[in-house]
Amino acid sequence: MKTIITAALCGAVTPKAKCPALPITPKEIAEDGIRCWKAGASILHLHMRDDEGHGTMDVNKFRETVNILRGECDAVLNLTTSGELNVSDERRMEHVIELKPELATFDCGTLNTGDGIFENSQSFLEKLAKVMIDNGVKPEVEVMDIGMMNACQWFAKKGILNAPVHYQFVLGFGLFGAPATPQNLCSMVDKLPAGSTWSAFGTGSAHLPILYTALALGGNVRVGLEDNIWYAKGVPATNEMLVSRAGRLIKEFGNDVATPDEAREMLGLKK
Ligand code: ZN
Repeated sequence: MKTIITAALCGAVTPKAKCPALPITPKEIAEDGIRCWKAGASILHLHMRDDEGHGTMDVNKFRETVNILRGECDAVLNLTTSGELNVSDERRMEHVIELKPELATFDCGTLNTGDGIFENSQSFLEKLAKVMIDNGVKPEVEVMDIGMMNACQWFAKKGILNAPVHYQFVLGFGLFGAPATPQNLCSMVDKLPAGSTWSAFGTGSAHLPILYTALALGGNVRVGLEDNIWYAKGVPATNEMLVSRAGRLIKEFGNDVATPDEAREMLGLKK
């Protein structure tokens, strides 16, 4: 069996001051992505940061990063549509339309994030699904709580999303997402429609328990500094360290690490 490793390189939130290895500029993000691809990541999940290090949906930063990566590696690129709070729907979709990545995130519901609101209204999601389908981009449906699976299945039933859906189970999204426990991942996986593909990760110290659970349940895995900045207690991580360890664990478990083209085949992507 093949297992896909996604590397989530920087996210929108973690400050560089807390994590010196965090890539911030397009060049740093692309170089770190190439290291992760060499270490076995077949999907690179990308956010952008502005010049102050804050999350941004600036299409110019996405373009610069994507152009370097497309020139130097064959990794599947998965662009976030949720890299900046309180921006217009259009700003969240501009890079999807222009750059047409193979995957982009589709966050299937709204959650509190601290005092902010991570807003994904039904009308936005319906618009986003149409933009993705029209541009040949496969949604990676991120599920932070179990109700979001109902919404996703309703979208698929109505033909707003195409089946089979690819899910990313996000466990431990702040205070308001489903807690990152193996039991919660099991109950989400139990509710998957036949033919779905999926991956999962837990944030912070739950990254290893969820990685092991995902392997045991036959899923794919995501690692990276977006989700967790520690390799072990007191040992700061780099993206490459986290990807390399995931690759070793996959092999020790008895699976093979999927290449980018194998990941494309598993997820039904057109290169
Ligand atoms: Zn992300």
